[in-house]
Amino acid sequence: MGIRTVAVYSNEDKQSTHRLKADESYLIGKGLAPVAAYLNIPEIVNVAKEYDVDAIHPGYGFLSENADFSQAVIDAGIKFIGPKPETVRRMGDKVLAREAAIAAGVDVVPGSDGPITQWEEALQFCEKYGYPAILKAAYGGGGRGMRIVNNKEDLRDQFERATSEALSSFGNGALFIEKYLVKPRHIEVQILGDATGDIVHLYERDCSVQRRYQKVVEIAPAAFLDPAVRQKIIDDAVKLTKFVGYQNAGTVEFLVDQENRPWFIEVNARLQVEHTVSEEVTGVDLVQSQIRIAEGHTLKDLGLIQDNIHCNGAAIQCRVTTEDPANAFHPDTGRIEVFRSGEGMGIRIDAANAHAGAQISPYYDSLLAKVIAHADSHPAAINKMIRALMEFRIRGVKTSIPFLLNVMNNQAFSKGYVDTSFIDSNPELTQ
Ligand code: ADP
Repeated sequence: MGIRTVAVYSNEDKQSTHRLKADESYLIGKGLAPVAAYLNIPEIVNVAKEYDVDAIHPGYGFLSENADFSQAVIDAGIKFIGPKPETVRRMGDKVLAREAAIAAGVDVVPGSDGPITQWEEALQFCEKYGYPAILKAAYGGGGRGMRIVNNKEDLRDQFERATSEALSSFGNGALFIEKYLVKPRHIEVQILGDATGDIVHLYERDCSVQRRYQKVVEIAPAAFLDPAVRQKIIDDAVKLTKFVGYQNAGTVEFLVDQENRPWFIEVNARLQVEHTVSEEVTGVDLVQSQIRIAEGHTLKDLGLIQDNIHCNGAAIQCRVTTEDPANAFHPDTGRIEVFRSGEGMGIRIDAANAHAGAQISPYYDSLLAKVIAHADSHPAAINKMIRALMEFRIRGVKTSIPFLLNVMNNQAFSKGYVDTSFIDSNPELTQ
């Protein structure tokens, strides 16, 4: 786009590739812990002001879904590339997001009406809706603080554990309880919205391959999804985001139960790690669209008209992490001695610090590279992915590639029907 870029980096990220790829980069968080460096709102805004930055893209970690951050950016006279702070506030709170979904006429998983702090409130819920139920941090995310309750005897103990996890991870112990759906599929819809209230969708992704409620493999479009169910999910996503006046990129997440009924679970008010597969099948550059929308363009200006957005073929993304699948996915650290990636037509690699000589630290997320395969059909994309993963040579740190290859070669996976219990029910995948 010809836009000059300015990056910030922590002391631990001195050698990080993002620092070298940006036109300018500045150290932040001197004297702060590695994660705290990237959470220091005033310092980041000051760097932006000092170096005449006119817009900030928050990426998809740290402050990317933090309304205080986007507000501080706007207050400093800088454009924030993402939804409005009030939207982030409403969607980031699981309870308010549910209320919005209900008001928009979207089916939500039966859940508590508001945040709960007493285990007796959870008991009341379970007596009404039955077991199993799931406790979630009301103000949390990333799969942390979630606990399944199978029976009355478990309830109090799980409630106390979830409360303390929520408190230590998110600074607020309030919980939320909802009915636990057994073996659902996770299907989500990518949307884009502009300041005129226009919304388009970029079809759906299947993110059912999960470990500890975190996505490992993502697919667009979902294979073998009943067309009527797909249409309902997409319509619901557009309805909800129109209802809240959603601007910029966002994702509406649903679980589809074994009776093929979709239920809304949450909205992610930011770009997601798996946005790549939607880009591949639609040919729409999501990050570029985000920047253009933040500049004030309408979707129509950008040629983003629903009838012109098509879904071509199938795309799969594998998250290659520096974790050892043979050792309970323990994060590995150290120097990458050898690095070679798969390549070829239909293969895209989005990576950070993935090169010989890179130092993998224990301080941040262990995602090393996203490998994306795009082909005419799901089976062809899986074959391309297998080929690409087999071409990788990484020495010096352990990676999840052997596990990802097991997933790609699995019969159930290649047939296209997997639910969120897939990894847990197939322990041989981690061998
Ligand atoms: P987070 O905000 O932590 O990402 P989500 O609400 O998006 O949490 O849920 C993450 C994953 O947890 C889902 O994809 C699904 O696998 C599981 N999950 C969440 N809610 C339920 C539920 N009610 N029943 C069954 N599984 C659930």
